[in-house]
Amino acid sequence: MEKTKQLYEGKAKKVFATTDENLYIVDYKDDATAFNGLKKGTIAGKGEINNRVTNHLMRMLETKGIPTHYVKELSPRETLVKKVTIVPLEVIVRNIAAGSLAKRLGLPEGTKLNSTVLEFCYKNDELGDPMINDSHILAMGFATEAEIALIREYALKINDILSEYLRDLGIELIDFKLEFGKTADGTIVLADEISPDTCRFWDTKTGEKLDKDRFRRDLGGVEDAYHEILRRLLGE
Ligand code: ADP
Ligand code: UDP
Repeated sequence: MEKTKQLYEGKAKKVFATTDENLYIVDYKDDATAFNGLKKGTIAGKGEINNRVTNHLMRMLETKGIPTHYVKELSPRETLVKKVTIVPLEVIVRNIAAGSLAKRLGLPEGTKLNSTVLEFCYKNDELGDPMINDSHILAMGFATEAEIALIREYALKINDILSEYLRDLGIELIDFKLEFGKTADGTIVLADEISPDTCRFWDTKTGEKLDKDRFRRDLGGVEDAYHEILRRLLGE
């Protein structure tokens, strides 16, 4: 499959059209941003790690009945995916209070939540990805009631599958962000990425952060943390 033209360059990936009108190629960058683009940097090797970790997890989720956009890994940084129309939502799932939830509700980071929290944010950088609810989603025409129900069902199932899978590798899944898209025939599939950029991963034993918070909060050892996730998931 050949790249034809670049359609989009985002903060972490480039998206290319291909010679097949139903397929895109995503190309992962080492660029890192935080706080809605205010903090910028690079994390050496991040593009390859996020590409390979995402593909590994999407293949695993497919075997458990979650439809995804994944088609084929083309190179360490590039993956062939189904072209989708992204539902403009960041679907956030939380098991333990951290980040913006800890701040908003005044909870110490690390507080176990009595039940899983699911949040929808409107994916819009200019507005700072504001949190919205089902009625906003319907009012804005982002998704139908049935699509919202399916997205919620998939997000919670993904949380169960991933939490169990990662716990066996000594990783606690604190929270994460998902994006869903619609294929040409209207099927809702998991899209975008699942990586240390989009998840909070804490070492089960030590509580050490193995994710982008090391970059956001200047904790040091950023590259090592990303490599540790690659090592635990893919054994290298
Ligand atoms: P951002 O847009 O937030 O800066 P990225 O740099 O990760 O993020 O850019 C990748 C873009 O590609 C995102 O906007 C994401 O929603 C979109 N995307 C991910 N998977 C697909 C897909 N299968 N088809 C179309 N767009 C996709
Ligand atoms: N997240 C993300 N992209 C975003 C916002 C959040 O991938 O634009 C992920 C983030 O990595 C974390 C989870 O979603 O795993 C919850 O993030 P939170 O709301 O706590 O926001 P943050 O701490 O990034 O401000």
